[in-house]
Amino acid sequence: MSKPAYGTPEYDEQMRINSNCYKVTNWGKEQMAKVVCMDDRNERLKAFQDMTNYLSNLHLMVRNVGAGGYVHFCKHCGKPEQANYQEPTASRLKANGLCFHCDFWHEKRTAYNAQSRAGRMLVMKGWVYGDSGDQPNGNKSWLGFGGSRWYLYQITTGKLWSTNNLMCAGDVPADYLPGMPDNAVALTLEQFELAQAGRS
Ligand SMILES: [Zn+2]
Repeated sequence: MSKPAYGTPEYDEQMRINSNCYKVTNWGKEQMAKVVCMDDRNERLKAFQDMTNYLSNLHLMVRNVGAGGYVHFCKHCGKPEQANYQEPTASRLKANGLCFHCDFWHEKRTAYNAQSRAGRMLVMKGWVYGDSGDQPNGNKSWLGFGGSRWYLYQITTGKLWSTNNLMCAGDVPADYLPGMPDNAVALTLEQFELAQAGRS
């Protein structure tokens, strides 16, 4: 393949592709440096696992980006995003310039802040939950947390209730926590009964 002449559109295109390929590998290099510095062991293991996945697919990504395939770099975390998702996800990622992971939490945070005080999205100790409705006679294998019973207090409304069908949507990444403060508390049965007794 002959090298395009300096200053031509083909040359600029080649430079753009080279730069993208460099950024794809360099992001991985920078992440590895961050993983090494993580104090929390669980966080470090999770980040290491993420990087293992990233490196496993890196050759495919570089080949694709090198052939001029679509890529953008997440404006939140810098991760390369090829937006290989079904619509409307692919178009949304291209429009908001985020990676899949950051977009997921961006959407969650937007929904959290748009909901009313009695909203169904609960954040407890930095984890996102939703009550899919108590089903005392439901099949436990279909219920959240295997049908474990939860005693809940919604800070924003003062509502006290119990459910055996709590669903978890994952832990909020540290950089999204400031916009998603806890709005509920999981109580022990003893605390729950105390709180109820105090109201009667
Ligand atoms: Zn991102």
